[in-house]
Amino acid sequence: MSEKIYDVIIVGSGPSALTAAIYTTRGNASTLIVGGESWGGQLMLTTVVDNFPGFPEGVHGPDLMLAMRHQAERFGATFLEKNAETVDLDVRPFVVKAGGVEYRSRSVIIATGALTQWLNVPGEKELIGRGVATCAPCDAPFYKNKVVAVVGGGDSAMEEANVLTKYADKVYIIHRRGEFRASKVMQDKIFANHKIEVVWDTEVNKIIGADKVDKIEIENTKTHGIKELSLDGVFVAIGHKPDSDIFKGPVEMDDRGYIKVFDSTKTNIAGVFVAGDVHDDRYKQAITAAGFGCMAAMDVLKYLEDNSSS
Ligand code: NAP
Repeated sequence: MSEKIYDVIIVGSGPSALTAAIYTTRGNASTLIVGGESWGGQLMLTTVVDNFPGFPEGVHGPDLMLAMRHQAERFGATFLEKNAETVDLDVRPFVVKAGGVEYRSRSVIIATGALTQWLNVPGEKELIGRGVATCAPCDAPFYKNKVVAVVGGGDSAMEEANVLTKYADKVYIIHRRGEFRASKVMQDKIFANHKIEVVWDTEVNKIIGADKVDKIEIENTKTHGIKELSLDGVFVAIGHKPDSDIFKGPVEMDDRGYIKVFDSTKTNIAGVFVAGDVHDDRYKQAITAAGFGCMAAMDVLKYLEDNSSS
C-alpha cells in the first residue's frame, strides 16, 4: 500500500479524466491519474478531430491527448500508466489497486470512458488482428490495394471507411438499416467517395477464414437473402459500451453499465464522482467529456473543502 493519501484519484485518461486533473491540480488537490496501460481513450484511435474548439485546422486525436496529459502533469498530477485492477469504495480513504499497488484517496473521479462493441458473431474473436480490426488509422496501411468492409452506420464507421480508402481498392460499408445515423457532413464524404459501396439493410452473420479473414457471410434484414463477400479485412465500428465493470456493486449503474449520476457529477457514494462516456450515453463528444471532467473536478474540490476535517 502506498504511504500517501491523495486528495483525489482519477481513474481513466481520456478528455474527461485529463481535464478533471487540470482542474483538481490547479485547485491544489494532490491528484493521481490511474491512466491505464493503453492510456488516452478513444481519441488515441482517431485521426483528425475537427470539432474541438481552438483548432481551426483540426488536431490529431493523439496529439490532443498528449497535450492534455502534459498540461495536467505541468500542474503536478501524477500519471500512472497502469490499469486499475480493483477499487474499494466501502472504506475511507478509498482504495484503488493498480499494478499490484494499493493507492488511497479522499475522493475518486470515475472517468473510464467506453470500450469497443463487438458484433459477437462466429469468427470475429478468433480473427482479431488477422483481418478483424477496430482502428482504421492504426491498421489501414495493411490493406493497401485490398478489399475491406466497415460495419456500422455512425460517425465512427464513416471515419473508418474514409481512412481506409486511402489504401484499400474497395471499401464496403455494411449497415443494418436503410439510413445512416452519422452526421450529414460525414455522410456527404462517403457518398462522394467512389471507392465506397454501401450495403444497406444488412447484417454480418459470420466472419470466415482459417489464418486470416477470407470472406464474410451477410444477410439482408428485409429479404433474409444470404450471400458471401470475399474480402481481406472487417473493421467493426458499431459503437462503444461504458467501461464500468470494476465499479459494479457499490456504484449504482443502469442495466447497460452507465453509471448513474445524482446531482451534477455525484454518484450514489459520497466522495465518488463520475465524468464522461462512462455515464454519458447522450452526447459522447470529446468536448462534452472535457466539460464533464471540469464539473467533476469542481465538485471534488467543493467536497474536499466541505470534508477537510474528516
Ligand atoms: P454510434 O453513433 O452509436 O453508431 C453505432 C452504429 O453501429 C449505428 O449505426 C448502429 O446502427 C450500428 N450498430 C450498433 N450495434 C450494432 C450491431 N450489433 N450490429 C450492427 N450494427 C450495429 O457510434 P459511433 O459511430 O462510434 O459514434 C459514437 C459517438 O462519437 C457519436 O456521438 C459520434 O457523433 C461521435 N463521433 C464523432 C466523430 C467526429 O466528429 N469526428 C467521429 C467518430 C465518432 P443503428 O443506426 O441501426 O442503431
